[in-house]
Amino acid sequence: MSMAPFASVLIVEDSRAQAMLGEAVCRELGMERVYHAGNGKEGLDIIHALDPAPDLILLDLEMPVMDGVEVLQYLAKESLAIPVVVTSGKDLRLLGTVEIMGRELGLPLLGVLSKPVSAGTLGDLLGRRQRSDRLDLLEVAEVRAALDEGRVMAWFQPKVDLQTGQTKGCEVLARMQARNGEVIPPDRFVPVIETQGWGTELTLLMLDLALAEWNRWSAVGKELMLSVNLSPRSLSGTHLVKEIEGKVRRAGVPPSAILFEITETAVADNLAEALAITARLRLAGFGLSIDDFGTGFATVQQLRRFPFTELKVDKSLVTSLSDKPHLAAIVDGVVQLARQLSLTSVAEGVETEADLLALRETGCQIGQGYWFARPMPGDALIDWLSA
Ligand code: C2E
Ligand code: CA
Ligand code: CA
Repeated sequence: MSMAPFASVLIVEDSRAQAMLGEAVCRELGMERVYHAGNGKEGLDIIHALDPAPDLILLDLEMPVMDGVEVLQYLAKESLAIPVVVTSGKDLRLLGTVEIMGRELGLPLLGVLSKPVSAGTLGDLLGRRQRSDRLDLLEVAEVRAALDEGRVMAWFQPKVDLQTGQTKGCEVLARMQARNGEVIPPDRFVPVIETQGWGTELTLLMLDLALAEWNRWSAVGKELMLSVNLSPRSLSGTHLVKEIEGKVRRAGVPPSAILFEITETAVADNLAEALAITARLRLAGFGLSIDDFGTGFATVQQLRRFPFTELKVDKSLVTSLSDKPHLAAIVDGVVQLARQLSLTSVAEGVETEADLLALRETGCQIGQGYWFARPMPGDALIDWLSA
């Protein structure tokens, strides 16, 4: 097995036996250069001395002089974006806490492993990372042509009340149709749209398509809330809210039926403008959701500062919830936080009945996920609602 992008690794570990074992595992995975440090302080010295920096850090949690938690905080402070795998002999719950902390710090924390580390588990983690890195983005010209030719479509995924089973609304998700008819997921073209500065165009296009669909549903007696993803770049400039209001008014859809989902990183990036735009969206009567909660920087303070009406727990915390007791406590806390702030709690990534049952225990109000339905075209949603 070869982990090509990981040619060099720094093992920060105070136990000599564990360090040797770690080295053997890394060599087995094809890593060529292996560096060792006996504590966090030594580890940081080596990172500063190496040029280029190591491709990977295997970081033990408990060490003398400077422990793994401090190292993570230091890496974040210095914006050292080196992929880290944390290892520890301690229980799953502590590892879970460290995983959340790493993510909150914005570090490329690939995962946490309990010791002893094996080539199998480490290889799995690194392999997963490589696959997601390799996801090929489409060519800019291809995406531009799809936008111009009306081949960017809106699909819909139901949001279901966890107590009553009633469908409350749906999230609007972009799909692109390739010339050969293949349907392409947003991971391959939304990042292209964002980097080209076409994010607002996408937001407005999805809104238009969703409004048209809303009227078709309403004509057959189905009234659903629409959740539209607001591109992070849309959160600046002054025209956006007016344009959105105009479109919604012309479509004859009540603003209270529409909710905008904003990721926590988007609001953290440009605070002042994001505050202004979100305030005006609320004034216009739209709902506001904080998306992907639990993956980035959002703090309770930010939640209080922004006029959110809904909190969406990220799927990384929800999927397989029943198998991850250490995450259940976190989801529980997030749902309670939502309740205290009078926000509707929504969990995405409900994949199995076990996820659903574990989620109900937390008192979360709304669920979204493959267990209920996958995203689908508008026509299919009408059929799904009737079935
Ligand atoms: P997101 O906003 O977090 O959307 C939820 C994603 O979770 C969707 O992926 C949805 O299909 C997926 N999902 C739903 N239930 C489950 C489940 O049970 N298990 C798993 N594993 N996944 C589930 P999708 O449609 O591929 O969209 C990916 C991302 O692309 C979205 O993440 C969003 O960030 C972006 N995106 C999609 N449409 C738009 C859009 O119109 N505008 C913007 N700005 N971004 C969009
Ligand atoms: Ca979303
Ligand atoms: Ca999400």
